[in-house]
Amino acid sequence: MNDSELIFLGTGTSEGIPRVSCLTKSDKMCAVCSDSILPNSPNRRRNTSVLITKKINSQYINIIIDVGKFFYESAINIFPKNNIKTIDSILITHTHADAVGGLDDLRDWTNNLQKEINIYLRQKDFESISKSHNYLVKRNKLTGGGVAKLNFSIINKKPFILHGISFIPLPVMHGKHLEIFGYKFGNISYVSDTSYISKETENLIIGSEILIIDALRPKKTHGTHFTLEEAVEFAKKINAKKTFLTNATHDIDHNRINYQLKKENIDIKYAYDGQKIKIKF
Ligand SMILES: [Zn+2]
Ligand SMILES: [Zn+2]
Repeated sequence: MNDSELIFLGTGTSEGIPRVSCLTKSDKMCAVCSDSILPNSPNRRRNTSVLITKKINSQYINIIIDVGKFFYESAINIFPKNNIKTIDSILITHTHADAVGGLDDLRDWTNNLQKEINIYLRQKDFESISKSHNYLVKRNKLTGGGVAKLNFSIINKKPFILHGISFIPLPVMHGKHLEIFGYKFGNISYVSDTSYISKETENLIIGSEILIIDALRPKKTHGTHFTLEEAVEFAKKINAKKTFLTNATHDIDHNRINYQLKKENIDIKYAYDGQKIKIKF
């Protein structure tokens, strides 16, 4: 393993790929979902999430951004083969289920490998988790133990340092009414869910060598995500050395769309689950 790497734990939308309904439908075959169940298919996508691993004094520090509904399955697939054991910190972008639905599964780590896990999130996200996962927040009052031991810290728009790594929050809109965070760290800007990025945040992203950006599917969205076309347009504005697209639906056939993207005048492609890239800090 390199000294500092980013591993894509998931590159798919909330429902994941395959859709079960595409596999059970008897009339029309969905080519992408059918392909996604073949071994090592890049079309198999779990909830959007990344792991940052950095070697500090001969030990690896592991930081995860978001633990969604399919975190457990991502971890089964990706942790053993990359020798990822402990989880040092988790950053939360927002509290939709595809970003926090895996919080409960962290019990395996805090019961068997480490004392606790630090979670970094905004006040409003902490309040949301206090309602949706109250037994994880009021752990001792509501359970007899056994559930994940999480240590919550509140962050705001100010940059902060974790394990010697500087993180700059990237506030972006995810739909008309919800502001969420992306994060800039090292030479990477990561924005998993967005439909609008302000000039102010764009200025924070400019200069990143690597951009990782939401690109739900071609042409249309529910108004809470970038379309592929919007993501490509934004990537051209940022003009990073490399752009990776994430949060894809089953409308994205990985190899076919990446082949088409080669025609763009920038280096831009969809990432796949388990893909690793080097980070420079
Ligand atoms: Zn499908
Ligand atoms: Zn969301």
